[in-house]
Amino acid sequence: MIEDKRVTEAAPKKEQRRKFQAIRGTRDLLPPGTALWNHVEETAHAVFGTFGFGEMRPPIFEPTELFARAVGGDTDIVSKEMYSFAESPEPNDPKAVFVKKALDLGLGVEVDDFEKAFGELSSLATISLRPEATASVCRAYIEHNMQQLPQPQKLYYMGPMFRRERPQKGRYRQFYQIGAEVLGGVDAPAIDAEVIEMVMTFFDKLKLPGVQLEINSIGHAADNCRRGYVALLKSELEKVKDKLGADSQRRIEANPLRVLDSKLEHEQPIIATLPKIADHLCDDCKTHYAAVKRELELRGVFYKENWRLVRGLDYYMRTTFEITAQGLGSQNAVCGGGRYDGLVELLGGPPTKGIGFAIGEDRLILSLQEAKDAALATGNQPPFVYIAWMGANAYAAAVRAAKNLRAAGIRVELPPVEQKFGKALERASKLGAQYALILGDNEVAEGTWTLKTLADGTQQKFTEPHLLDFLKKL
Ligand code: AMP
Repeated sequence: MIEDKRVTEAAPKKEQRRKFQAIRGTRDLLPPGTALWNHVEETAHAVFGTFGFGEMRPPIFEPTELFARAVGGDTDIVSKEMYSFAESPEPNDPKAVFVKKALDLGLGVEVDDFEKAFGELSSLATISLRPEATASVCRAYIEHNMQQLPQPQKLYYMGPMFRRERPQKGRYRQFYQIGAEVLGGVDAPAIDAEVIEMVMTFFDKLKLPGVQLEINSIGHAADNCRRGYVALLKSELEKVKDKLGADSQRRIEANPLRVLDSKLEHEQPIIATLPKIADHLCDDCKTHYAAVKRELELRGVFYKENWRLVRGLDYYMRTTFEITAQGLGSQNAVCGGGRYDGLVELLGGPPTKGIGFAIGEDRLILSLQEAKDAALATGNQPPFVYIAWMGANAYAAAVRAAKNLRAAGIRVELPPVEQKFGKALERASKLGAQYALILGDNEVAEGTWTLKTLADGTQQKFTEPHLLDFLKKL
């Protein structure tokens, strides 16, 4: 081999070489593992399609303000977990021109001057990597006037989300969600039930082990419903405040409902004695909840009621649900969802009913991998043929055969350089091929090709067209 002097000389000294690694909380999804990811995503497309949902692909970053409004400025997600940055201005943006001109003239740019010309500095846009996608779907619904399309709009998405959480098994800083939303003018309980039925059908198709659905109703933000209950909860919590941990004590003031989320062992018996929201729902919310349960039963969907399943934000209402699966330790929630009738309006759109869910795809995959039959779940693999060729004439035939076999959907490995047959067969086995197609100049001259089954070493002879027919039928 000729040594390339430039490369050698330019190569950094050993101590200067830096080994790059994926950033903490992010990871590479590699083959063959990605086959399971593809299988999961293809199954989602297929199942969601049968329920009349259409895929949308929102951008990965949006104005920070969108998430602050939709997810809530005082949630952990928005207050400390978002990847946010100021967008640098376009080269001919008046703000950038102003600053450049001032600097060219040798003048400093005072914040005052800048604000006089452009208003509050704080109005400069910051953007964030999306921590979730419901906000984007609602933004798109408004932006594209989807309320004028047939209602409700049934949309789903899949893709990466970003939250700066402490990484652990099942919790990453870049993770993947598959989610769906139903937006429109109607909040019929059948919609809630159908959305839940769809997720359960999806999990069933994937043979996800140990699936458990929990549901609750958190009523709506009114004095005779959730607001009244929260006031009562707060006063009951005050009475037991001393027995609660620091986090729960803080939440009594900030968001009493979130105390119900506590996983602390010593708080459990205390929480068990607190008033339950189901006893304080208004009549409409009670009726809606009862109907959702009836609808689930009608659809054969098993559920467990969990009165402690809450969402902290005002526009969440009525139905909430969470689905857990096996093999995930403490991070065992694979799906969370709920109704959020006020959200579209909060984002500047028309009054709109909404319900949706988000599945944690990473956790779904972890749980499938723990299950015994996960390998089967990746579906039928196409036959895999290794072409062991030797000789110039054989090579031309091998290239042609590879093209034809691939066109028929068969996986083909065509070695780029000639190999001795022994070596070729060894490599074919190593790669996991089922068949080796043996092509030497003799075979090509005779027009009969040999196919070796690698598992048992048996050989069969074929003409070229018969070979194709044989493999296509596998
Ligand atoms: P959320 O959007 O917080 O309601 O989460 C919905 C689902 O996304 C959860 O049930 C998890 O399965 C998944 N999820 C949320 N945060 C993470 C994370 N940091 N890493 C992996 N999965 C996550």
